[in-house]
Amino acid sequence: MGYRLTKAERELMKPGKCTACGADAPTGRNSAGRCYRCHNAQYYQRKADRAAWREEQRRKGREYWAGRGVVVGDAVEAIVSDMLTGGLLACRVLRGVARVGAAGAYVHVPGDAKQYEPYRFKPAV
Ligand SMILES: [Zn+2]
Repeated sequence: MGYRLTKAERELMKPGKCTACGADAPTGRNSAGRCYRCHNAQYYQRKADRAAWREEQRRKGREYWAGRGVVVGDAVEAIVSDMLTGGLLACRVLRGVARVGAAGAYVHVPGDAKQYEPYRFKPAV
């Protein structure tokens, strides 16, 4: 089901004075009563904020890896245990690549869409 505008929002979308800058908006306003110029400015501001946040996450990710002696793009590996039927633990080596993204540092394992937590991985030998 789509989002339905409230009565107040429908009122605000009619042509009138922008609630942010006070300019006339004869062609209509957004659901917060802003003229298209303020609406766009807010949109680009949010977009810029998100981009800055992502860049900050990537920077933190690189810092995390650097603190562990790993350069982004380096091969890393972790020993993981698999629970087998009968309750036996089998260990295997999970190999991946150190990466950074919007979630900070993570490990990409080829052929696996999951972003692995980096803390169990160490530089591959
Ligand atoms: Zn405005």
